[in-house]
Amino acid sequence: MLCPKCKLDTVSVIDKRNVDARTIRRRRKCDKCLYRFSTLENIEPLKVMVSKTNGSVEDYDRQKVVRGIMIAAKDRIDSEKIEDIADGAEVQIEKIGDNIITSKMIGNIVARLLRQKDEVAYLRFVSVYKNFSSLSSFKKELEKIEKNK
Ligand SMILES: [Zn+2]
Repeated sequence: MLCPKCKLDTVSVIDKRNVDARTIRRRRKCDKCLYRFSTLENIEPLKVMVSKTNGSVEDYDRQKVVRGIMIAAKDRIDSEKIEDIADGAEVQIEKIGDNIITSKMIGNIVARLLRQKDEVAYLRFVSVYKNFSSLSSFKKELEKIEKNK
């Protein structure tokens, strides 16, 4: 980004705040002339359909993804990082390039991203979303994590 005043490419971000789930405000400063300004960034909604396990198809809803992460990450990951994880998931969903994605695929993507951030949050997430049928399958998941350490 160029400085609006001196037009040099010497702008750094000094503060970042989520105005809401879809809007980010960044406070910026030109390192050369020290001019300060803010930018508002709107996240473009991801346009994809989601097919659910019960066969129904609905519009992708970012809030559902965020809510799912929030429940799993309660008291462990702050809300800004949760938005980051949702962003990361959307980037991957977009990369797949299909008009319809299954809710299972979204779950897998989010699980993978969560695993990199916080293992407890990851386990909580998969335990809800994978609906472990038995204690042994949950234990298997735990063992996989232990092995990867
Ligand atoms: Zn400047």
